Amino acid sequence: MHMPRNYDIAELRRLDIAHHLPAQADWQEIENLGGSRIITHAEGCYIHDGDGNRILDGMAGLWCVNVGYGRDELADVAAEQMRELPYYNSFFKTANPPAVLLADKISSLTGGRLPHVFFNSSGSEANDTIFRLVRQYWKLKGEPKRQTFISRINAYHGSTLAGVGLGGMKAMHNIGGDPIPGVEHVRQPYWYNEGRDMSPEAFGTACAEAIESKILEVGPENVAAFIGEPVQGAGGVIIPPANYWPQVEAICRKYGILMICDEVICGFGRTGNMWGHETMGVKPDIIAMAKGLSSGYLPISAVAVSADIIKVMKTGGDFVHGYTYSGHPVSAAVALRNIEIMEREGLVEKVRSETGPYLAKALATLNDHPLVGEARSVGLLGAVEIVADKATGARFGGAEGTAGPMVRDICIANGLMVRGIRDSIVMCPPLIITTSQIDDLVGIIR
Ligand code: PLP
Repeated sequence: MHMPRNYDIAELRRLDIAHHLPAQADWQEIENLGGSRIITHAEGCYIHDGDGNRILDGMAGLWCVNVGYGRDELADVAAEQMRELPYYNSFFKTANPPAVLLADKISSLTGGRLPHVFFNSSGSEANDTIFRLVRQYWKLKGEPKRQTFISRINAYHGSTLAGVGLGGMKAMHNIGGDPIPGVEHVRQPYWYNEGRDMSPEAFGTACAEAIESKILEVGPENVAAFIGEPVQGAGGVIIPPANYWPQVEAICRKYGILMICDEVICGFGRTGNMWGHETMGVKPDIIAMAKGLSSGYLPISAVAVSADIIKVMKTGGDFVHGYTYSGHPVSAAVALRNIEIMEREGLVEKVRSETGPYLAKALATLNDHPLVGEARSVGLLGAVEIVADKATGARFGGAEGTAGPMVRDICIANGLMVRGIRDSIVMCPPLIITTSQIDDLVGIIR
């Protein structure tokens, strides 16, 4: 095991306040707190901070460290690749071995249904790629009016302009306004918050019908695609009723609209199948993936696309789009080895048959707690809804809620990292988590 270095934590905190602007953060709040919590090292499912706390990482970093921390073989493969070929891109009619092999691997993980793969460095960039590719596809196909995307309220598709625009986060749109014209948002399939007066099935149908109504309002001839996370992650782990996605798929097919699944969180075993769309029982035309692709060890994302779409794209000359780090050989080599580890250790199967059902059962034990409105999960993706009044479902902070961040802080103080979203806490532990660690996780939440 790697021996952690000794850091001057007080000095790091001072420098953090003076110079470092953390992502998605209230900088004044961090200054008031005396600087960020400095995470110094990690192993397995645990992170360690500069104050000597060992914290069970119930979020796998930011929904990404699926194979857990401290995998020497990922460090070794990165070092080998850096020595052999640290960088080369796919511009100038070139390619590099890890990128080509990873594209082939991803194609096979889709069962060959999405055989063409474009690389980027982040989930946001993947969705930017999709945005431009889809619009260009319809132009080349002779239906240039099809430029509108339909997405959902509380969807998260990234922090770039297209990512924010495709996403449906009010707080993000409030900063700088809706950044991209041509994106329509429809209701989210959030049964606990919006559908408890009907059965999950009736609610699933109502939410799918909202998409059809929007298509008819915009005009089907103007709609390019529907995009959705199989399970909305950053929106609060919103697990749709089982009939929702198949109905969405049928609606997309009815109007000839492309269906895109953002698998940035749900991909690579998170929901108990390789892809979230498998768990939801649908077959998208395009998927975005990132995070679990490399378990977060290096930045890399990918877009996998159907043969039909790429056939049309090939009639259009250059696809004038790409990043300096598209197909980065070191990231690709790490991703390949990460997938090899997942396969060798049977992690997807483990989530499906062992740890996923175990987490569901363990979370269900929280349902008798006076502050728990609903505890839900799929695979190793879960949420606990916190309520002020169990009978009515009334929230502590009004409609938008504030209890999640408060409970998150209490969990962290008790040795568990979870995320607070409005009036819920969400969890997404590494796929290597054991059943006894799941007991710890749920015990700390209680
Ligand atoms: N899409 C989804 C579903 C995500 O959850 C995220 C990040 O959390 C993104 C896209 C953006 O990915 P990134 O932060 O790598 O740009």
